[in-house]
Amino acid sequence: MREPFRNEPFTDFTISDSIADFGAALRSVESQLGLEYRLKIGSDRIETTNKRKSINPSEFKQVVGIVSQGDTEHAHKAILAAAAAFEEWKRVPPAARARVLYKAAAILRRRKHEFSAWLVFEAGKNWAEADGDTAEAIDFLEFYGREMERLAERQPLVPLAGEDNELTYVPLGVGVVIPPWNFPLAIMAGMTMASVVAGNTVVLKPASPTAVIAAKFIELLEEAGLPDGVVNYLPGAGGDIGDFLVEHPLTRFICFTGSREVGLRINERAAAARQDQKWIKRVIAEMGGKDTIIVAEDADLDLAADAITASAFGYSGQKCSACSRAVIEESVYEDVLEKVVRRTAALKIGHASEQATAIGPVIDERAYINILKYIEVGRSEGTLVLGGNKRGGTGYFIEPTIIRDVAPYARIAQEEIFGPVLAFIKAANFDAALDIANNTEYGLTGAVISRDRAKLEKARDEFHVGNLYFNRKCTGALVGVHPFGGFNMSGTDSKAGGRDYLLLLTQAKVVSERF
Ligand code: GLU
Repeated sequence: MREPFRNEPFTDFTISDSIADFGAALRSVESQLGLEYRLKIGSDRIETTNKRKSINPSEFKQVVGIVSQGDTEHAHKAILAAAAAFEEWKRVPPAARARVLYKAAAILRRRKHEFSAWLVFEAGKNWAEADGDTAEAIDFLEFYGREMERLAERQPLVPLAGEDNELTYVPLGVGVVIPPWNFPLAIMAGMTMASVVAGNTVVLKPASPTAVIAAKFIELLEEAGLPDGVVNYLPGAGGDIGDFLVEHPLTRFICFTGSREVGLRINERAAAARQDQKWIKRVIAEMGGKDTIIVAEDADLDLAADAITASAFGYSGQKCSACSRAVIEESVYEDVLEKVVRRTAALKIGHASEQATAIGPVIDERAYINILKYIEVGRSEGTLVLGGNKRGGTGYFIEPTIIRDVAPYARIAQEEIFGPVLAFIKAANFDAALDIANNTEYGLTGAVISRDRAKLEKARDEFHVGNLYFNRKCTGALVGVHPFGGFNMSGTDSKAGGRDYLLLLTQAKVVSERF
């Protein structure tokens, strides 16, 4: 039997060998910047005339790679290639499919720092965030491999005399995988390979800002022996090829992580049955969050401040799990605010490639402009107590920003900003804090910092989010430990890294034979 799943450990960057190895990986990847990447459809590598430069958000003069962009004709070919490969791949036994994932995990583990270095350059992740992303990608491969093996075991059914009954989980068909740029390795690899291990074939449309990391992963899958056509790599603008892929009659399911706006659009477009379409498409969508940490008056206030600071400003708040609302009981409001401001002011802003950097850049110009716009909205909705400025220079740097005395229904308390902007909201008591926590249309993550058992139990029942944490930060879900995904407008209630996930990518078939 295969050894039980265990999470990949994070790299300890206090160890000098780790620092040296990571530095070497950064130099090695830096020497590979600016190369060209092509589409991969079936076994064909296709260069297109339309190309997009992927740039380093810390240093926007630096081109990370030049990526060919697919159009609808390529999209059509990619779906046909996936459909053709499906006929073979669905017949490969689950254990053999899982083996490809274990092999990919082994290669990724060997080349861990190299992949993390690509994340530093292309996604603007600092060392620890990049290392966490790569570790999570390894986890998804190891976890979903085992999950498929578990689903392939004989499933329990009620016995019936004179009949042999068997339930198996069979694949769906061709999937369109649309991952986000904020976990461009982990979520991209997780959604793609969960689909694949379940016996499906896919068209992977990577997020445009992070298409090079996806291309590197495609190379890795070749090395791991995945047959051509099982994963087709189709970079391109969502506006050009997104609808086409979703609406294609051969598309059987769409696996998406990204904004609420795009998720709803996909859901709507996927719902219509097109000519020659034989199924109801399945949509698995993980969307936004507007996540709250509640601090009760009995809490350990240092722990609360640590949790809020880490959850709000890790990767500049560009996580759907990020804390963007700190809801604090009145009597400890000033203390918690003061502690969070002190911790946040000490965070070093800089290039993601520098080891000391806590706050790197935001992903691109669009995000930069949007976040700065929200900071202006915030100035009019509360009192700015820290940050609020761009840092100019050579990248998209924005200071971590804290705005106090924000009303529970203010725009910056309701709309997802996806940047380093934290609203402090005062609550008259714990019940009022819970009401505020539940007052958005999202329901992804949340945390409560309290030592009071009754308050925690109340929150356990009433704080309506998919991932609720007590006395810790609300980011950093671990595969297998914290199956991840939220309620309401946060998505379709899926749980990545959990035992239910592969069921979303399969269908159950029952064969009953009478003797
Ligand atoms: N799973 C990540 C976490 O727990 C967030 C994923 C996302 O931002 O999409 O922090």
